[in-house]
Amino acid sequence: MGERMRAQINGQCECGQSRYSLSRMPTRRFLCHCTICQGVYKAPYADVLVTGARSVAIASEHSLDFKRLNGEKSVDRGICNHCETPTIGFLQVLPGVKLGLVPATRLEHTDGMPSPAMHIFYESRVADLHDELPRYETPGQSIRACLWPFLAGFAGL
Ligand SMILES: [Zn+2]
Ligand SMILES: [Zn+2]
Repeated sequence: MGERMRAQINGQCECGQSRYSLSRMPTRRFLCHCTICQGVYKAPYADVLVTGARSVAIASEHSLDFKRLNGEKSVDRGICNHCETPTIGFLQVLPGVKLGLVPATRLEHTDGMPSPAMHIFYESRVADLHDELPRYETPGQSIRACLWPFLAGFAGL
């Protein structure tokens, strides 16, 4: 990735006590309809941008509580301990490959960022959405569809 991808984008929770910045533009975006996202975001689905974990700088470690809500290998979700907003997530997909999962609603802007590319975990949707995006309706398909670009990049494919 070249200079074009460099950025300084700020994100924060609802109350402003949990803050971070991204040093690179996220490269992917998906809409996640899993029941865990529905629960933590209190919304029908989550609009999530993906970047490398190393491009995320957390400015307020003490105000974020990290929790894995679906087992040891699941997304480590940073939730503000003042306002309970899910603010930033991390997912270790392979040794040495860790992703930052950034809720689009937590960023100061999403100018120049990708549009959502797919629906994942669509089998647990609250309501049908009427758009042309691909839909993945099993956990296996959903995980492969959203992680494959990163695994392929890591493997040099
Ligand atoms: Zn907060
Ligand atoms: Zn989800």
